[in-house]
Amino acid sequence: MKVMKRKILVIYAGGTIGMQGSENGYVPVSGFEQRLRALLSSANADQLPALEVLELEQLIDSSNLQPHHWTELGGIIKAHWSQYDGFILLHGTDTMAYTASMLSFMLQGMDKPVIVTGSQIPLAQLRNDALDNLLTSLMFAAGYDIPEVCVCFNGRLLRGNRASKLKSSALDAFDSPNYGWLGRAGIHIELHAERLLPVGSADFNIPDFNPDAVVVLPIYPGLSSRIPRDLLNHHAVKGVVLHTYGAGNPPDANPELMAELERAVKRGVNIVNVTQCLQGQVSQGAYATGATLNRIGVIPGSDLTLEAAFTKLHYLIATQPAAQVKETMGRSLCGEMAE
Ligand code: ASP
Repeated sequence: MKVMKRKILVIYAGGTIGMQGSENGYVPVSGFEQRLRALLSSANADQLPALEVLELEQLIDSSNLQPHHWTELGGIIKAHWSQYDGFILLHGTDTMAYTASMLSFMLQGMDKPVIVTGSQIPLAQLRNDALDNLLTSLMFAAGYDIPEVCVCFNGRLLRGNRASKLKSSALDAFDSPNYGWLGRAGIHIELHAERLLPVGSADFNIPDFNPDAVVVLPIYPGLSSRIPRDLLNHHAVKGVVLHTYGAGNPPDANPELMAELERAVKRGVNIVNVTQCLQGQVSQGAYATGATLNRIGVIPGSDLTLEAAFTKLHYLIATQPAAQVKETMGRSLCGEMAE
């Protein structure tokens, strides 16, 4: 663990961590820094790293997150990269895994930590998980060499593009079912340095996104070809996350649906197959149903989470020629999938 001489930028984007009650339920409110500093003044301030807080003008409940927010957040981190030793992003939990995944793609080659955290109970409540999540994130960011985008929650340090929100009301809301935790804060802080990505050299790419470019198509019993036809034929759609059963199986006994998928692939739409199971990976071809997708040219998504598949597809479509997306989608860029 390094001496806490590092300077950390805390970016407050919204979410429960800084919310207060209203007639209609929790809403994000400004003034997070004053509330935090008031709490920290009673703590052992000399144990804290130097920190500055940047509060976004438009604080959001992260269920209102749009792709342009990723451009804004990535741009802020890029603009401040050389001035700080690490970054903490305070974000709502609902779409935290999407943002952490997207940041991992935009900030490839990073050499310092970006830790995304939030809470299930606001900092303004007497009993909360906000202060602990923030302090633990600060300890990791200021004390260790972590060249990754992580999610830090309830004492767990997770690879950002492997994390998912699995619980809506428990404090251990996040886990990374297909990759070991990067660290754990119990009485002592432990870091699994052997699980971290290698240190890179920053060369960031923060694109603008077309929000209509990527869609998710869940497979469910009774899915006809009619709804997918409208979705796949929309002129803006360039990528599809196909959310299939088990080892990556679609209902191949529905020839119209398979034909719609095939026509879309032929038109240059990149379709990526990920499983609806929380753990494990797509093995496209283990069953004859899944093998149909190999023949059609659907990209097997290995053990990508839905959030990582969706953001990776968005990122690649925004930064690469369509013909190249298939090849790049099939390999790991920053530890997001097993190859
Ligand atoms: N709806 C909130 C949000 O995502 C939930 C939270 O932060 O825990 O902004």
